[in-house]
Amino acid sequence: MKNKTNLTGYNKEENEELWLWDDLPELDMEVGYKVQELLHYEKSPFQELSIVETKGFGRMLVLDGTPQVTSQDGFIYNEMITHIAMTTHPAPKQVAMIGGGDCGPAREAMKYESVQHIDVVEIDERVIEVCKTWLTKEAESDKIQTIFKDGYAWIQGQKNKFDVLLVDRSDAYGPAVSLYKPQFYQYVHDSLSSNGIAVFQSGSPYYNAGSLGKTIRNLKKHFPIVRTYLCAIPSFPGGIWSFTIASKKWDPLTADLNNLQWQTTKYITPDVYRSSFVLPPYIKNAIEGK
Ligand code: SAM
Repeated sequence: MKNKTNLTGYNKEENEELWLWDDLPELDMEVGYKVQELLHYEKSPFQELSIVETKGFGRMLVLDGTPQVTSQDGFIYNEMITHIAMTTHPAPKQVAMIGGGDCGPAREAMKYESVQHIDVVEIDERVIEVCKTWLTKEAESDKIQTIFKDGYAWIQGQKNKFDVLLVDRSDAYGPAVSLYKPQFYQYVHDSLSSNGIAVFQSGSPYYNAGSLGKTIRNLKKHFPIVRTYLCAIPSFPGGIWSFTIASKKWDPLTADLNNLQWQTTKYITPDVYRSSFVLPPYIKNAIEGK
């Protein structure tokens, strides 16, 4: 039997075996990760923030007990939240990202020559500081402006501005709850330029099927094109993960894939791009609540 210990209760002196338990409330279950070392732990004004060392995934950023990104497979998340929207828009100039973390999506977006400016909006300054110390360096460029604000409040002041908006939100707990409110999708729509595109982290299509279905239904009220796509992120529960694109004009299914900056990527290629939109019927049905 595993020794169930959460990060707050860890006592290094007693040489306890340390496990991180990720709670999956929709299915009444938890997934455990053995922690080799707790490298950093703090309670920021917004959330519980840790960096742990794991055997299989290297360093992991954990917020309120949920893994966010790892040094070993984080490239998959960062590439897949970024490149599909950036390619679907033929020339994205103004880009924004809500949820900074280790700023991986901003680094990926910088690969597109058309980009003139990226706003990175992060509620918790400590996440960016801690990621800079323990994970990858913050994206650095004159084109990137980091804004420490609640994305829900910030977006209400943005109108007809962004060609691409990356909503790199945590799951619907803690400070990210507002990023799932029905009104948020209206604000996102209004913040985009006339041909703008937004992409949302939309959870596991199995463990978060209810939340994913809600995201899609909310987006369909505001956008003519709404498409969910999948990728495989081994460190996330169940492995399969979803993102959902909402677009005013350009359809990711007919995008010019010559624009895809995949020469330096480790997950996405034109074939992976295309196949990511193929949803197995059991996932389609779960999303539609059948
Ligand atoms: N992909 C990221 C990475 O590579 O580190 C993980 C980002 S994590 C999914 C989500 C981020 O959104 C966290 O850094 C969290 O602090 C931030 N966040 C949560 N709620 C927010 C809000 N209301 N406004 C802005 N940022 C928020």
